[in-house]
Amino acid sequence: MTQSLLIKYAEIGIKGKNRYLFENALVKQAKIALKRVDGEFVVTKEAGRIYVTTESDCDMDEAIEALQYVFGIVGICPMMQIEDNGFEDLAKHVIKHIEDNYEDKNLTFKVAARRSRKNYPMDSMEINMEMGGVILDAFPEMKVDVHNPDIVINIEIRNKIIPGPGGMPVGTAGNGMLLLSGGIDSPVAGYMVAKRGVHIDAVYFHAPPYTSERAKQKVVDLAKIISKYTGPMNLYVVNFTDIQMYIYDKCPHDELTIIMRRYMMRIAEYFANKEGSLGLITGESIGQVASQTMQSLAATNEVCTMPVFRPVIAFDKQEIVDISLKIGTYETSILPYEDCCTTFVAKHPVTKPNINIIKRSETHLEEEIDRMFKEAVETAELIEIRRD
Ligand code: ATP
Ligand code: MG
Repeated sequence: MTQSLLIKYAEIGIKGKNRYLFENALVKQAKIALKRVDGEFVVTKEAGRIYVTTESDCDMDEAIEALQYVFGIVGICPMMQIEDNGFEDLAKHVIKHIEDNYEDKNLTFKVAARRSRKNYPMDSMEINMEMGGVILDAFPEMKVDVHNPDIVINIEIRNKIIPGPGGMPVGTAGNGMLLLSGGIDSPVAGYMVAKRGVHIDAVYFHAPPYTSERAKQKVVDLAKIISKYTGPMNLYVVNFTDIQMYIYDKCPHDELTIIMRRYMMRIAEYFANKEGSLGLITGESIGQVASQTMQSLAATNEVCTMPVFRPVIAFDKQEIVDISLKIGTYETSILPYEDCCTTFVAKHPVTKPNINIIKRSETHLEEEIDRMFKEAVETAELIEIRRD
């Protein structure tokens, strides 16, 4: 039996002359996603629609699940769909399907019903039994074999369209460099920008021994979760301890966070250039903490020469949490491992830093900072995040 899925995409349908580029990118990403599923799938583009078909007896639910990580897809329709007009009508369609597709009725079969729409009046066992009876009545040559059937009649009772993640296929909008911490916000920020078609890589600032291996592993785990959507990424783990200690020694403690964040941005830009990224991405949100007031953001931003994208800038925490729950990063983000920013945090950090004062404080770092910067980028560990 040929099973197929119709892939629905919305926004990329309106891209005019370049539409084929988006469709091709979507076909490519769908194929990559389906590689993780057992079975042979063919992804085709026909008359403005994208179809996934398979001749193999594989689990279409797995294929659907894999496709639900592909940006650009707004819906997935399993084919041979019919309206719910009661069991008798369903039975008529099944009989017709067998009639039309199997010339020789000398077959063994089984009915495999799944009922994800729980308000259907029969459960899956009842559907299996009833439909099996109907088929036997209609085609007396056919026999039931639940272990090794020639054909499986899959019946799925579900709401019509299974939602995809929306957005644009990854790889249609250039590269970005995500500053990925172990928190809730930055994985969400990375997901959101990737959702617009941007390929992302990431940088994480690690401060051993103040931050543990487990804190680093948490960031690797978060990168793996978002890579289900974004595809493979390069994660640079930068040892930030020396720079942090040096700032701690030389600069006023209430300015520590801001100065530290300015160095994070500078280093992130180094890796962004290395990867051909066109912008930085952070999980900053106005007013969330002292380092995220408008003044602090301005002071942090001042060192950047590339655009900084802050997709959650105006989101409430709960709105960010809701997305992290949806994309599956929340449980990992809330694991209680220390963060390099919290270790050195001042009791009363400046909330309205003055850029000129910050710049003056940074002159205290002149002696060693260039060497430390160079060492930090040269010793960074590159972890290649690949889909499992
Ligand atoms: P998050 O939940 O993303 O950790 P946060 O509320 O803890 O955010 P901050 O610690 O002020 O906020 O960090 C703001 C942003 O700076 C983060 O969203 C992230 O993009 C970046 N960032 C912070 N710490 C690190 C780190 N150790 N490595 C990489 N990026 C970081
Ligand atoms: Mg953080």
